[in-house]
Amino acid sequence: MFFHAHPDDEALLTAGTMAMLAAQGHRVVLVVATSGERGQADLAPGEALGEARIAELYKSAAALGCARVVNLGYGDSGLAPGGGIAEDRPPDAFIDADCEEAARRLAGILAEEEADLLTVYDPAGGYGHPDHVQVNRVGGRAAEIAGTPVVLEATVNRDPLLRGLKLVRRFYPQLDIRAFERAYSPGEEITHRVNVRRFARQKRASMAAHATQATGADTRTLGVMLKVPGPLYRLIFGTEWYVQRGLPPGTRLRHPFEVPPKG
Ligand SMILES: [Zn+2]
Repeated sequence: MFFHAHPDDEALLTAGTMAMLAAQGHRVVLVVATSGERGQADLAPGEALGEARIAELYKSAAALGCARVVNLGYGDSGLAPGGGIAEDRPPDAFIDADCEEAARRLAGILAEEEADLLTVYDPAGGYGHPDHVQVNRVGGRAAEIAGTPVVLEATVNRDPLLRGLKLVRRFYPQLDIRAFERAYSPGEEITHRVNVRRFARQKRASMAAHATQATGADTRTLGVMLKVPGPLYRLIFGTEWYVQRGLPPGTRLRHPFEVPPKG
């Protein structure tokens, strides 16, 4: 089960792993906390945008081979200008949800699916979006309640990300990469490096499905990423990264279900 905050997060962080597991015969379930109705888009934020983004999520899930999509239906907390929690967030914002109650709901789905694996985010929520921080808390607690054996924090290895973004910036000088300098996880914390190059086509289709997030202002991350030519794309997006807490430093696993060596 892949737990994400908003439609399109799965495309950026875990799409290759999802396509790989589905191709290997696993039942892959995608859960989002919100419909992302406060995301940037040409459509005005609100109900219509939320509906459009959920439709895009189903398209992305189909491209990746997901068996089921669930929207927990919390309000998108949005991101304050300059980062942090927005003051004008909706009353049902995911960041304000009772962690225990939200975790029990997610645990119910984990139990129903007899899930072997749950992905959440790193405690900093990647680039710091409040809903992403909440995914870490709620997801971690849900896995405890349901007894889910493996919890992986979907993250990005910051080291090659910064190298890649600096390369992209040569072609798109307006791309602001400062926010990425402390985001996600340094390479030494990563326990899982999953090679998803063979699933680049599905991952690209997943990104392309999120049209509201990829069009319009061309400084938008997803829009910039879709313009990256194929071979470079496979190089930059050919690996997905996870942190499994409690494993010894220096652990290097290649598959979500690889059993860590003892000792
Ligand atoms: Zn998000």
